[in-house]
Amino acid sequence: MTNFFTGIEITKRHVNFFLADSSYRIKGTHRLSLPAHMHAAKFIEELENGFYETMKRSSVPADRVAAISVSVPGTLNHKSGTVINSTVMPWLQGLNIKEELGTRLKKLIIPDTEANVRTFIEHKLGSAARYNNFIQILLLESWISAGIYINNSLLRSKHGSAHELGHVIVEPHGRKCSCSQRGCLEEYASSDAVIRYYLKHRKHASKSTVVLNDLLRLAGSSDFAALNAFYKMGNYLGIALINIINIVKPDAVIFSGDFSKGLNFFLPAVKSTIDFRSFYDSANNIAYQKSTLGNDAVKLGLVHLAKDTYTNAYNLKVCDDIFII
Ligand SMILES: [Zn+2]
Repeated sequence: MTNFFTGIEITKRHVNFFLADSSYRIKGTHRLSLPAHMHAAKFIEELENGFYETMKRSSVPADRVAAISVSVPGTLNHKSGTVINSTVMPWLQGLNIKEELGTRLKKLIIPDTEANVRTFIEHKLGSAARYNNFIQILLLESWISAGIYINNSLLRSKHGSAHELGHVIVEPHGRKCSCSQRGCLEEYASSDAVIRYYLKHRKHASKSTVVLNDLLRLAGSSDFAALNAFYKMGNYLGIALINIINIVKPDAVIFSGDFSKGLNFFLPAVKSTIDFRSFYDSANNIAYQKSTLGNDAVKLGLVHLAKDTYTNAYNLKVCDDIFII
């Protein structure tokens, strides 16, 4: 009997369910909207109901699903399946998704961070397929994360994650961050920050009416304030990146997430900052690319991760003994 595999993508506002057959072909999808306030027990119940709803809509019996992968917007203990921290969904902290959902659904649950899911699939199918040393940067609305892949291995810290690029300090006495520290990259290089830079130049513009797409459009028509805002953001991103580049010397930096749509506007600042501050001459040889998987990255990553882990085809080596602090 052909097995099926399910991927569950957890985001700040939605949970997306994907059902795929053993050839990774998507056979069903379902989306849940999340309320502004939630608690862990209710959330697990919602995941269980969402899984069964996906199966019902796809007319596939639930017992045909061999494994379920789950992506989490935060830090996760990869082995135990417990969420360590999530600045975008704080109530996820401490929730053992592997155990709680596994007990309810009686399935193999494979949790990982969204950044690692994207890094895994970027190396298997995307822009990073040709690189064994690369950094994947995930740029979302108000969230920045990364996956680090070195010596053909996904870098994990003691707890299983090594990607809190958004909380690398770029201004020691800077703005207060949601993580309670000051001067984190997320405060200076997220789309919220770019809008803030723009509004400083355009004082007549109302904060509530300017969104990232407006700035992309304005930058595309050579609006000085918009271009300047992207340049400033790129400079901060370059400062954060150079600290990692000086340690791991990647061959490529891959940009993904909605905010990577602005790559053409902020990449010049990223590159010039890195070139100017790099310890290595070879930093000039880094390839900077946008993810070719676009909005399908997480969907593909999850169903491939579920099947490849279940069938032991996921041979991605993991560095458990290297830390970036
Ligand atoms: Zn922070």
